[in-house]
Amino acid sequence: MSAYEVGHWIHGAATRGSGERQQDIYNPATGAVQGRLLLGSAADLDAAVAAATLAAKSWGQTPPLARARVLFKFLTLLQERREQLAEALVREHGKTLPDALGEVARGIEVVEFATAMPQLLKGEYTEQIARGMDAWSMRQPLGVVAGITPFNFPAMVPMWMYPIAIGCGNAFILKPSERDPSASLLMAQWLKEAGLPDGIFSVIQGDKDIVDAILAHPGIAAVSFVGSTPVAEHIYKVGTAHGKRVQALGGAKNHMVVMPDADLDGAVDALMGAAYGSAGERCMAISVAVAVGDVGDRLVAALAPKVKALKIGEGHQPGAEMGPLITRASQQRVERLIGEGIEAGAKAVVDGRGLRVPGHEDGFFVGGTILDGVGAGMSCYTEEIFGPVLCVVRVPDLAAAIALIEANEYANGVAIFTRDGHVAREFVHHIQVGMVGVNVPLPVPMAFNSFGGWKRSLFGDHHAYGPEAVRFYTKHKAVMQRWPDSTPKGPQFAFPQNA
Ligand code: NAD
Repeated sequence: MSAYEVGHWIHGAATRGSGERQQDIYNPATGAVQGRLLLGSAADLDAAVAAATLAAKSWGQTPPLARARVLFKFLTLLQERREQLAEALVREHGKTLPDALGEVARGIEVVEFATAMPQLLKGEYTEQIARGMDAWSMRQPLGVVAGITPFNFPAMVPMWMYPIAIGCGNAFILKPSERDPSASLLMAQWLKEAGLPDGIFSVIQGDKDIVDAILAHPGIAAVSFVGSTPVAEHIYKVGTAHGKRVQALGGAKNHMVVMPDADLDGAVDALMGAAYGSAGERCMAISVAVAVGDVGDRLVAALAPKVKALKIGEGHQPGAEMGPLITRASQQRVERLIGEGIEAGAKAVVDGRGLRVPGHEDGFFVGGTILDGVGAGMSCYTEEIFGPVLCVVRVPDLAAAIALIEANEYANGVAIFTRDGHVAREFVHHIQVGMVGVNVPLPVPMAFNSFGGWKRSLFGDHHAYGPEAVRFYTKHKAVMQRWPDSTPKGPQFAFPQNA
């Protein structure tokens, strides 16, 4: 495939913009440069915000049903073209084709949710809230909002945001990850084909410079961010200091507690998919198995041969279970953390460093790894590895497992595997983590329930997609009304006592 160029989408059309800076786009499976990304400038952002501001005025006045019909048409296009979108993910992210199709499917569910917007935007009405007076509430769009998204879900995470933002009547500006930017332009093109007015969806490519321009731009009312914790914290602080509404979802270190009574085969299968699927590059990946009591030896013995047998390759390779990491730097970082874990005393039951995939020797691959006997002070435990590495921490009982999880700075997802209903219930009730699975390793809520972690996994007040996103992308307005014939005569100086 000859090198291609990826630019922006402003006012309903692809554009190279006015920026001078460019950056390579890699194929992670070969390690080769395959394209060029044009990085946007402040002038490009100004152009996108101007187009969005103009378009948002009439889009916000368009009946929600008419807006939902555009999303319905877009949904049809997505369903017809899901393979095309998935191919873009395989090419630039490196995930396997079945995994990419799964990502697209989970994104489509959010569009399905957003097509119910006329229902979701309904307010509340109280007749006779006082004598002769009625009251109601409604939700109105914010205007122009922006989304800044990570590399690991280049289609799904933007789809957590824009279908709902647009359905609520806003204009949306997407700043995708610079690592895998092509999916954003496919979605922009298809939204236009679905009948979305120009300016309602824009794409500005870029890195930190354009993110900082978004955070400071007076024409942008709100920012949704998904990415690593240090950047999420920066986005939240700077965005809110500029008076914006901000939701910033950060990184994770997700634990899976395996109780001695757990269905061991089920727990092992769950750990294989949750730790190594997508090469561990998921914010909900399980990166720590917490083995309670005497289950540790059995668990590690059952996992080891399966991890050694993982099928690792380019995303189209039949039967491939995981692909490469996103960059050379990421590969080196993961290998460094494995090394540091071993130096600190962890046992590499399976060591995935130095993996060379035949035919893809220069790809950014790391093999599946198990580090056993990991301690809470080791860097492989304290840092988010974001690679195919499972740390096994052994603890004597459930209380120690809970104490370990709660001492961690992240609180995105957690799971417990047990056959004991009481243990499961107590765990769900007490654990200070945003998303909890009981015998479910990746408790990612579906589009109809919102997604988000606690503590340093989310900065802001609203979780992503679902009903929380409808609240995030709208302002609440309360109205009270009465008519002259039912209005009491004469001024009232005291607070009304409402009877
Ligand atoms: P990242 O934080 O490096 O980048 C995310 C976005 O921020 C990108 O668009 C990038 O261009 C921009 N960015 C990067 N550095 C920046 C800086 N210094 N200032 C301003 N903007 C900057 O994250 P990533 O490597 O693309 O994605 C992986 C991370 O995302 C992991 O930490 C993962 O846990 C997290 N993630 C979290 C969730 C969640 O829902 N909590 C979901 C997916 C990914």
